[in-house]
Amino acid sequence: MKGEGTMDKQRVDVCVVGAGHAGVEAALACARLGMETILFTMSLDAIANLPCNPSIGGTAKGHLVYEIDALGGEMGYGADLVTLQSRTLNLGKGAAVYSKRVQADRMMYRSVMKRVLENTKNLRVVQAEITDIKTVCENGEKRIDAVVTRLNEEYPTKAAILCTGTYLNGTVHTGNVCYLSGPDSLMAATFLTDALKREGISMMRFKTGTPARVHKDTIDFSKLEIQEGDEGTLPFSWRTNEESYPQREQIPCHIVYTNANTHKIIRDNLTKSAMYSGNIHGTGPRYCPSIEDKLVRFADKERHQLFIEPCGLDTKEMYIQGFSTSMPTDVQLQMLHSLDGFENAQVMRYAYAIEYDCTDPQELLATLEYKKISGLYGAGQFNGTSGYEEAGAQGLVAGINASLKIKGEEPMILSRSSSYIGTLIDDLVTKGTNEPYRMMTSRSEYRLLLRQDNADLRLTPIGRRVGLVSDEQWEHFEKRRKQIEDEKNRLSHVLIYPTDEVNKVLEESGTSKISVPTQLGELLKRPQLDLEKLSEFDLNKPKLKKSVVFTAQTDIKYDGYVKKQLAEVARQEKMENKPLSSDIDYSTIKGLRIEAVQKLNKVKPLTLGQASRISGVSPADISVLMIYLSTK
Ligand SMILES: Cc1cc2nc3c(=O)[nH]c(=O)nc-3n(C[C@H](O)[C@H](O)[C@H](O)COP(=O)(O)OP(=O)(O)OC[C@H]3O[C@@H](n4cnc5c(N)ncnc54)[C@H](O)[C@@H]3O)c2cc1C
Repeated sequence: MKGEGTMDKQRVDVCVVGAGHAGVEAALACARLGMETILFTMSLDAIANLPCNPSIGGTAKGHLVYEIDALGGEMGYGADLVTLQSRTLNLGKGAAVYSKRVQADRMMYRSVMKRVLENTKNLRVVQAEITDIKTVCENGEKRIDAVVTRLNEEYPTKAAILCTGTYLNGTVHTGNVCYLSGPDSLMAATFLTDALKREGISMMRFKTGTPARVHKDTIDFSKLEIQEGDEGTLPFSWRTNEESYPQREQIPCHIVYTNANTHKIIRDNLTKSAMYSGNIHGTGPRYCPSIEDKLVRFADKERHQLFIEPCGLDTKEMYIQGFSTSMPTDVQLQMLHSLDGFENAQVMRYAYAIEYDCTDPQELLATLEYKKISGLYGAGQFNGTSGYEEAGAQGLVAGINASLKIKGEEPMILSRSSSYIGTLIDDLVTKGTNEPYRMMTSRSEYRLLLRQDNADLRLTPIGRRVGLVSDEQWEHFEKRRKQIEDEKNRLSHVLIYPTDEVNKVLEESGTSKISVPTQLGELLKRPQLDLEKLSEFDLNKPKLKKSVVFTAQTDIKYDGYVKKQLAEVARQEKMENKPLSSDIDYSTIKGLRIEAVQKLNKVKPLTLGQASRISGVSPADISVLMIYLSTK
């Protein structure tokens, strides 16, 4: 029986379920690619909510934000507009893992993103809970047909993208108190999971947690270490003027440490924590552990570092990063009051853990479309990841691919060597995940290629191919790309003469003198040297943006490593370019081990390269597949 109010609903192109970080990128990508799009959310007042740390970016997450921006996404520019503090992490390591992280004004970010959505052509934003999906079978293929709201409205659609985050059967836990709820006391979505299971989709139960928010005026900051932002950091987005970034004076974070008393309180009450009382069944993120987990896993550590982060300019809420817990409220207060400077702390929001349903990403293709249901896509925390940046990246990819499929155009599948986004999605759909997946630089075997500053050189041409990169962005990119090439070319021709002044600088920098005129580019390959140190000898240097100079110099410095990695990419690509049909029944291929047959039939890899990354598929199995392919 069709739902009420169906009669007048025209079939739209895309329905996006969820206006979190995944849903926002998905909906904007679809609408900007000309798709008539409807974005549904449980609450219009919680669009692009930051329910956990009020920050965007961080190790590898900063790379994802730059990659989203390079492809024509929104998160980077939004983060630049609401930056309270900006830092570059890992400066002590190589430029490939330099990672930008900003403290973001939570309320401002929500309103910035809501404004963008409301002013985007082809896009409607509707506050409604999606409780069901409708599918139809045509020519033996199941496809999405409509989504249904709690008010029984049915929206016929060509594609639907599920970006439900931590809301599906969301259950909040604080001590032994638990109740159905989404994050920040928003309503949980309690119908859709059953509908998805009815359609044969496998669901998992995951968990994550967040710390308390404390009133700023009740913290004695004189007892805390201060952590200032970095001067001269570059913005995330090409749209932001790097000379006037950040657009407001930076505000500090602070640092405090747990102590023996804090640890005693937690150990004495460990069984009262929802995590350790057995109340929680969902699997939590290994890399964002609760403070209880840290004490159990790193029992020998005398203290744990906590960051006190501002949640916004116009609020007194302070976020205690690293102190997430699911202890009962009385224990939480004891834990807080045990910290130096927090003796009189007043809680504005108590910490909690939240369990929620998500899907098994191995049921998705690398386009993030379901193998079983054509036109249905998944993105974000719903796919088993954790993090705003991971969510935004998947939303963008799902939105682009849903639009390309409707237009009958080639899908966008990002390779592992092209980006962290490509690595993230390949890990999810090929290996799956049994805990909330967080991106890290160590997850990429090509991390020396995937620097945050060259994200546009790697991805903007792809964003242009799929139609999301605007003429303005393309023009900006082409100009920057040319300036970088010209500067690299110039640096490889500028000669530095072996004068006393030059050799004095070389010696002071801890590197050897030169005795013959040497190319500036060659000198830059020395780890002790950079353009800043040699600038007085580089007389005719053009006036270039800091971001152009940084990329040109870093390309020169990494030239050798990059060539080696590119050779490895070329070798791997031979495997990546050997397609495998998703119709193969691997049980019919002689010589494959049983485990490999089971795994290959579950994942249905699209290439030999993807098959080689499935855990349980051995190199011997790959040789069998290569022989099989050679007979085809
Ligand atoms: C308590 C908590 C702690 C966290 N801790 C961390 C952490 O430590 N580290 C980290 O990296 N990340 C953490 N996160 C995760 C981070 O918040 C998410 O990764 C990110 O918000 C995911 O973005 P998303 O777009 O997938 O989903 P969300 O941002 O969760 O957005 C989901 C959207 O879907 C909508 N929605 C859901 N169901 C329906 C429905 N049926 N119909 C209509 N709309 C629907 C909601 O209204 C919302 O707009 C935490 C999240 C929470 C809640």
